[in-house]
Amino acid sequence: MSKKTIDQLDVRGKKIFIRADFNVPQHDDGSISDDRRIRATIPTIESVLKRGGSVIVASHLGRPEGKGHEPQYSMKAVAQRLRELLAGIAGTVHLSSALPSQAHADAAALKSGEVLLLENLRFEKGEKKGDARFAAAIAPYADAYCNDAFGASHRNDASMLALPLAMKPKPCVAGFLLAKELKFLGETLENARKPFVAILGGAKVSDKLPALEHMIGKVDAIIVGGAMAYTFLLAQGIAVGASRVEKDLVEKAKGILELAKSRATQILLPVDHNCGREFKADTQKNIFAGAIDDGWMGLDIGPQSAKLFASEIAKAKTVIWNGPMGVFEMPPFDAGTLAVAHAVIQATKSGATTVAGGGDTAAALEIAGLSAGLSHVSTGGGASLEMLEGKKFESLVPIEEA
Ligand code: AMP
Repeated sequence: MSKKTIDQLDVRGKKIFIRADFNVPQHDDGSISDDRRIRATIPTIESVLKRGGSVIVASHLGRPEGKGHEPQYSMKAVAQRLRELLAGIAGTVHLSSALPSQAHADAAALKSGEVLLLENLRFEKGEKKGDARFAAAIAPYADAYCNDAFGASHRNDASMLALPLAMKPKPCVAGFLLAKELKFLGETLENARKPFVAILGGAKVSDKLPALEHMIGKVDAIIVGGAMAYTFLLAQGIAVGASRVEKDLVEKAKGILELAKSRATQILLPVDHNCGREFKADTQKNIFAGAIDDGWMGLDIGPQSAKLFASEIAKAKTVIWNGPMGVFEMPPFDAGTLAVAHAVIQATKSGATTVAGGGDTAAALEIAGLSAGLSHVSTGGGASLEMLEGKKFESLVPIEEA
């Protein structure tokens, strides 16, 4: 499945509505701490502006509850960052002061080569509700719809589904970012070159269970790290001390290990653990091979596990990674995640297709300055995980096929 992209649309003299995902992390003072999602949509905006069109761009930011304008959730900082990133490309970047459903005058006044950023879509109740009336209020603003919000495409918010439906028969296309995400997370995984290795980590087994189950039988090996691993180790009767476990999922974990065996998918668990007495960076530390003593918690995979995982990753022609191997926010418990990152980068250099997804994995790679070493780092958290679960997104249905 490949979608028609923005460059295949004649945009001269036209207003293009771009649904972007500008839901960026912010510091307490409102400044943007990671602008990757904004940068990722610039090529789509630029493509319209350079060909004589104008752009109406909109996103949600944070979690306002549809109570109208709330200054702490304003798109002001995003508008400023857009101005900087589009300097020399866009004539002007306006931030609408009206609520999104009441921005008719701003949309009408927009000239070719200009950008209008709507205020936070979630200032309006209709957005989260997927409300067709809210969509109908916005639909007349533009001549075409472009979805470039991969990070929101697993949700049927009004701007994602009701809006393109309301805008039909006007054209509905994909932005470059959405197309790239679908290529790597969809097509590459469906037609993955073998050996195909999945790496799953992070805090909870429960979050990753559907993805894990979906991948059994499709991948050759699943590497499991992070706190998730302790529930699986417990299922194998290995003591995990005070590590984080989901006791109610131990039986389920046993079932998954059995299923994997029957379908020739190898599950690799950590063989040693970087442990702390307490959940803090300057705690007393110890490495345990095998069982973990009482009173110690596993906060990262140990060096032997990192080696074991790296040697499996080195064999792969396709790697998909979601979830850190340990508490990467708290060095030195970032070592396992970094070792795996370097192994994945090495695999990329040797010709493997490597894709990382999930907010925390992307953050870990970004902090370490390693994102560029992979074939693709997804901008989607929940959306990238749901792709791994094999879900089909309704919001993509109105987007025309290429
Ligand atoms: P997720 O959002 O499910 O990918 O989980 C990411 C979170 O898992 C990060 O905040 C990590 O600090 C946390 N995490 C990873 N390994 C561990 C561990 N061994 N113990 C506790 N938390 C962990």
